[in-house]
Amino acid sequence: MADSRILVNLQRCTGCWTCSLACKVGNDLDDKVFWQTVRTLGSGEGIDRPAGTWPDLHMSWMPVWSESCTKCPSRIKEGSLPYCVYNCPNAALTFGEEVDGEVERLRSEGFRVFELPAWEKSKDGIVYTSK
Ligand code: SF4
Ligand code: SF4
Repeated sequence: MADSRILVNLQRCTGCWTCSLACKVGNDLDDKVFWQTVRTLGSGEGIDRPAGTWPDLHMSWMPVWSESCTKCPSRIKEGSLPYCVYNCPNAALTFGEEVDGEVERLRSEGFRVFELPAWEKSKDGIVYTSK
């Protein structure tokens, strides 16, 4: 079976939501339906609130794929990347056979590699890297 993993480099993600919207438009999803969303990791007190105290503020993001994600089989069949991966403007997402090499490269630079726990019920084959 073809490799359909998606690698997310959290160090490159700027929380722009382009991946989520590209999925929505590409797959013609209803207004309230998202197969992939982007979490803000900030102070925990509300969406898009930074952690820390001024001027040492920081915020990061984590794209999350739901079980509804199909991994875009029609795109793969035509030799294209999934909408979310193809449209990320920051090259934060890597797909398929490219994943192993990118994981190796990032590990050598001190990145850790992990997946979400099962209780998150997210899509299989989503791998994260972060420092
Ligand atoms: S993964 Fe890419 S497209 Fe998605 S929020 Fe992060 S930077 Fe934006
Ligand atoms: S792989 Fe395809 S279906 Fe899954 S989130 Fe990305 S664009 Fe949507």
